[in-house]
Amino acid sequence: MTDNKLRHLEDIDEAERFRFLVEQSTDMISRHSPSQDWTFLDVSPAVERMLGYTVEEMTGTRGYDLFHPEDADNLIKRSASVRYRSGMYTNVYRYKHKQGHYIWLETTSRTLRDEDGKPIEIICVSRDVTEQTLAQQATRRLARVVEASSDMIMFCNHNTRQLTYMNEASYITFGTEKENPVVFYLEQLFEPQVYSSLLHDALCHAAEHGTWYGSIPLKLPNDRPRNAEIREVIAHRNLNDDMSVEYYSIIGRDITLRRKAEEEMKRHQLEMAHISRLLSVGEMASGLAHEINQPLAAILNYCRGSMRRIEEGRFKSVAEVGKSMELITRQAKRAAEIVKRMRSFVKKTEYQRMTFALNDSCHEIAEFLKQEAIDHGTVFEFQLEDEDLQILADKVQIEQVLLNLFRNAIEAYNGCQKNHRPVIIATRKQNECIYISVSDEAKGISKEILGKLFEPFFTSKSTGLGMGLSISRTIIETHGGQLWAESDGKTGTRFYIKLPANI
Ligand code: ADP
Repeated sequence: MTDNKLRHLEDIDEAERFRFLVEQSTDMISRHSPSQDWTFLDVSPAVERMLGYTVEEMTGTRGYDLFHPEDADNLIKRSASVRYRSGMYTNVYRYKHKQGHYIWLETTSRTLRDEDGKPIEIICVSRDVTEQTLAQQATRRLARVVEASSDMIMFCNHNTRQLTYMNEASYITFGTEKENPVVFYLEQLFEPQVYSSLLHDALCHAAEHGTWYGSIPLKLPNDRPRNAEIREVIAHRNLNDDMSVEYYSIIGRDITLRRKAEEEMKRHQLEMAHISRLLSVGEMASGLAHEINQPLAAILNYCRGSMRRIEEGRFKSVAEVGKSMELITRQAKRAAEIVKRMRSFVKKTEYQRMTFALNDSCHEIAEFLKQEAIDHGTVFEFQLEDEDLQILADKVQIEQVLLNLFRNAIEAYNGCQKNHRPVIIATRKQNECIYISVSDEAKGISKEILGKLFEPFFTSKSTGLGMGLSISRTIIETHGGQLWAESDGKTGTRFYIKLPANI
């Protein structure tokens, strides 16, 4: 206030001084009729900044009409939001601005009465509390979201590691009641070694970078056969003081259902893979029968020949008989080998990682398909990494993928006029990854079909099932790898497998 104005203040009488104060106040001061329509008898100029109306516009207006409908009812009923103290009411409510929106007002009102106690008028002092009220509402809403979240949310003091808050989901996961919590300190939530290593690291990371994301298993009471883990830690700093970490929000999730679903899914995949192996062998049955027939026929021949020689007395020594027996034994072993390979391939196995020589597997699967390759006039060509390429994976499953790709490459030559029909198998190790490619030089695959190749049940073969590539991709992805195909649609197709070397 300027000196001039102060001097002027001294000159005017008290009533006028009071009027001056009212006019200068940033609060809206108003007088109202004591009737229910709450008509404005007079209002201070603050009304213009607060509600957009001039003093003249507001005077004589029914104040009741500007209440938000819900609050108007409350006001009449003198609801819980209205506080009564020493003859004054304080009320927070929404009031309509001239532009049509509502603002939040906090109004303290007093009723002036005549000697008989009959109300003469109501005097109100109102303040715009929109910002605070909306902030409070947002905080309340946030608190409700936190409480109702299906994620576990806990607050933990940085210094004492004491849990200062746990939401409903946390209580449910720990199988405990709010009134009777079993957990007070962070270390109670974890196995000791997990707490001292993983969790300690997570808190340090959050303190340094603000947040930490990952997965740390929670220790649940023994009578709770559930799985839960911590996924996120947020460090909250003291904004007023020295910005040091004050507390952490720890967010976790009960993953029991997800784990169950994952296990179920894995079981399904193993089942599918097994069925698919049975089907492949079923489809190869005539080829395999032919292959077993060969050593059997050879054995028969050797036996007949030997019998003849015995009958004709042509064996001169026991050593000569032994030689024949040896030839027979070799053929029997060959047949047994084929049966063994077939049995191990169709065997039902659990997911089983082992280290094995990849190049050997390529040769073995090619051997398994020998007869089919001969029937289709195809030849296997190998461009294998020189060194003994070891891989850590499920051997049966990887061989199943190789079998699918090799067979598809052989069958790709169906209806193809080419004489030279190679199925080229290449392996290579690069940057801790192993690449296997299976190529043919048949007709190739159009761009349109390339997009559908890995969809379940997509097949172009009259007797095909269309599950081979879809299962193969699942197997490779379960191993953390990728399976894809490339083709120019004219001169052949190349399938690629990329797997982490893991050794
Ligand atoms: P299926 O062999 O039972 O049809 P797959 O999932 O193994 O099932 O293959 C799906 C389809 O992909 C095949 O029907 C074929 O049309 C196509 N395909 C796969 N490999 C090749 C290939 N090397 N060349 C051309 N088409 C191929």
